[in-house]
Amino acid sequence: MVVTLAIACLVAPTTPATAASHGHRFTPGAPGAGDPYFPQEGNGGYDVAHYDLSLDYTPASNALVATARIKARATQDLSRLDLDLKQLTVNSVQVDGRDARFTRKGQELVVTPRAGLRKDTRFTVTVAYAGTPKSVRRPDLGEFGWIRTPDGAYVVSEPDGASTWFPSNDHPTDKATYTYRVTVPKGTQVLSNGEPGGEWTRGGRSTFVWNERSPMASYLAMLAIGKFTVRKGRTEGGIPVITAVAPNRADELKTIHEGTIKAIDWEEKVFGRYPFASTGGIRVGVDVAFSLETQSRPIYGYRPDTPTIVHELAHQWFGDSVSVRRWKDIWLNEGFATYAEWLWDEQHGGPSAKQTFDNLYGKTEDWPYYNELWRDREAGDPGTDELFTLTPYWRGGMTLQALRDRVGDRAFFALLKAWTSAHRDGNVTTEQFIDLAERISHKRLDGLFDAWLYTKDKPTTW
Ligand SMILES: [Zn+2]
Repeated sequence: MVVTLAIACLVAPTTPATAASHGHRFTPGAPGAGDPYFPQEGNGGYDVAHYDLSLDYTPASNALVATARIKARATQDLSRLDLDLKQLTVNSVQVDGRDARFTRKGQELVVTPRAGLRKDTRFTVTVAYAGTPKSVRRPDLGEFGWIRTPDGAYVVSEPDGASTWFPSNDHPTDKATYTYRVTVPKGTQVLSNGEPGGEWTRGGRSTFVWNERSPMASYLAMLAIGKFTVRKGRTEGGIPVITAVAPNRADELKTIHEGTIKAIDWEEKVFGRYPFASTGGIRVGVDVAFSLETQSRPIYGYRPDTPTIVHELAHQWFGDSVSVRRWKDIWLNEGFATYAEWLWDEQHGGPSAKQTFDNLYGKTEDWPYYNELWRDREAGDPGTDELFTLTPYWRGGMTLQALRDRVGDRAFFALLKAWTSAHRDGNVTTEQFIDLAERISHKRLDGLFDAWLYTKDKPTTW
């Protein structure tokens, strides 16, 4: 994510609901994934493999009528399971085609199947729901989630907005593949993650199918609904590109399309093979404070400059393919995407990343962001409401420059590629990054990371 301007760039179960049969002890899945930053986000007891989302949406009234078919596997003998869903009305829930009991409790949709689900059983939860989706707000971002535009809507869900529009296991640790079937009034278009899977018009309404075949964190699921000018092409490396801009942003199409191709071709050289089957970008017709690295195809909420395009596309490796296990490690996304901007400058006639580091390091207390960067919080554990402040971004990027200075270019660039290939489609922690950096460089690096990530004050030695 790039935020403009400043960064320039449990609910405990009330009843045990335990049932025993044939020697199995069925217990409820946990109502959270165990992330201290977002205790209710995600759920325990199952692992989603695939979301099949059928949505009928009318922009004029913001009316959504939808069915989510969620294919999952039980990871325990499961008496009950939670999904995350905010605001919308649930009309029915079935498990493997049989009606299931359900209740709502805050953002938890609590589903009790007729019979317990044995560990390792594959099952499908079908949720029929409807309503008028609304955005949500965060102190560091403003509005996010489902956002209406004059002729449609779009979705930017990081970190916990996916539950504003579909029932999900809303935590990055449960990645899944997606099929979207979105029906809208004829003349309206739908773009999404992944690749198009067909479209047809019947009775004045058009249906668009999109498939995301690579595992994806729920916060990266994206729709852009409205009128768009679409351009298709390929990168030099042959990756299909689909870019789209709203009609009132037509003048940005060339910049986004060509900028995407240049950025992906360069990033493949520096970070390794592009992790997904297609790429592109979408410029929505309204201006919001941020752009988001929605998988395969970022959403741009303002006119993107080259650093923004480089940043959001760097996230395809750092954040989307290699995803955080806990939100406190957000610097693994944002520090790396920021460093990608600095590296781009370095290799395209601008200042070196070291010069950018030196410039930031040399700022004095009268600089407006001094406290944010050097006093207020740790880059490696910024706090729930401070995920998208500049500390994890800039200090995260500076951490990588400090590492590069210590281990040398050869080990550093080998590390970037080793990291993206070892953890492709996976989830990671900072500890894993430190371990890999130590193995590749044959150096002890805990002091460096302590100084840069886990100390609020400006490091003086590392
Ligand atoms: Zn970012």
